[in-house]
Order: sequence, then C-alpha cells, then structure tokens
Amino acid sequence: MKTLIAANWKMNKLPSESEGWARDFLAQLQDTPHDHADIVLCTPYLHLTSLNTLLVASPVRLGAQDVSAHDEGAYTGEIAAKMLFDVGVNYVIVGHSERRAYHNESDALIRDKVERVLATDMVPILCVGEVLEQREGGEAKKVVLGQLEAGLEGLEPSDAARLVVAYEPVWAIGTGQTATAEDAQEMCSAIREALTTRYPNFGKDVRVLYGGSVKPGSAAELFSQNDIDGGLIGGASLDVASLLGIVGGAA
Ligand code: PEP
Repeated sequence: MKTLIAANWKMNKLPSESEGWARDFLAQLQDTPHDHADIVLCTPYLHLTSLNTLLVASPVRLGAQDVSAHDEGAYTGEIAAKMLFDVGVNYVIVGHSERRAYHNESDALIRDKVERVLATDMVPILCVGEVLEQREGGEAKKVVLGQLEAGLEGLEPSDAARLVVAYEPVWAIGTGQTATAEDAQEMCSAIREALTTRYPNFGKDVRVLYGGSVKPGSAAELFSQNDIDGGLIGGASLDVASLLGIVGGAA
C-alpha cells in the first residue's frame, strides 16, 4: 500500500497565493522521488476550483477540510459533498479535532458526514484523537476507539473499504510536540485491530495515518512503523520544501 501524505492547510493562504504555491510544488516534486506516496492537498474551499485546473493532470489529488452532512437545500453557509466532487475533490477530512472543539461536532454528525462522503464516491479521512487529560488519565485508547466505532456506526461495509483513518492526538496538533513513534504505532495498531474486527475482509487494507506536528525530520521514523500508513500534515504542509521533505520521508 502506498504511503498517503495529506496536507491540511487549515484556514491559511489566499486563493491567489495557492496557485503559485502549487506550481512551485509540482515543479520541485519532479526532483523528489514520490512514486511510493499518494499526495493530497486539503485546502480551503475557495482554493479548490483553480487548484483542480492545475492539479488535474498531476499526481497530486485534491481534498477538502469538511463537508455538510446534508445532500442539498436550505443550509446557509454549508458545502455539499456533491459540490466538492464536482470541482474535482477526491478526499475529505471529517471530524478534525478543531471541528469537534470549535464547532461542537458530535460523533453522530461526523458519522453522517463520513457516510455522505462515501456515498459521493470520495474518500473520508476520519480523524480521531484524545486530549492530554485523557492520555494522562490512561483513557486514550478508550476515547480513540470510541470515536472510531461511533464514526463508522452502521456504515455499509463495502463502502467503508475506501476509508482512511487519521490518529491525531489533540495535544500534538500545532504544538510542536509529536507523539513518539512507539506511542503513535501503538495507537495505530489498536485502530487497525478494531478495523479488522469490524471489517474482517478489508480492515487491514484501510490506511491509518498519524497526524500531530509531523516535520521532515520526524516523518521517516513515523512512516516506517508497521501500522502507520502515512500522515496528516498541518503546519509543515504550508511550505513547499517542508512538505517535499515529508514526502521524501515516505521513501
Ligand atoms: C492537523 O491539523 O491535522 C495537524 C496534524 O496539524 P500540525 O501538523 O500542525 O500539528
């Protein structure tokens, strides 16, 4: 299975800046071995249409950072899955800890979003992760596996084969404090076990990512762990050289 490197730009860069960034990235990607990696740029919604024109013939795929759980209709300010698909999006981050914390997204809503993304022929990147108090209280595994089970509740198993899960300990996001490779591996292995129990036919093929302050210097060790199939990259994905360094870490 190829290593998946998903960049999460969050609410950064202007649409007009993103095109120059993507041109630079594609030019320099040619000099970086990347056959072993699938690369996805999850940008703000406004950047997607123009980036799709630039990326459509490239090896880089396009992702969104959120989606509505509804199909269409009177939901002011929301973006439907089919709108994302229409502008060339292949991946959608669902249940990021910033959405859970700042927008009170519940497990039930996140599950509906996962279902909507799968029904629209895109790949959900379902984010799960514990906060520091939960880790310190010895509850990290229970919390993470609880979020996983709730996020997948009742989904059609054949659809779920396309799923990606990202383990993102909240205390490691944007803090510069990466989980040790051993801790990240231990949790990703527990996630894999839960997926294999839930989906005996393909659970082992679901890609499980680690996210939380991954940098070029830490990527290779993280990605070499048995149950870590790539990374969800926030801050370090904003800079061309740094994201390319992380792609290099997947070799
Ligand atoms: C993220 O927001 O998904 C993330 C992992 O951010 P960072 O790499 O900046 O910790």
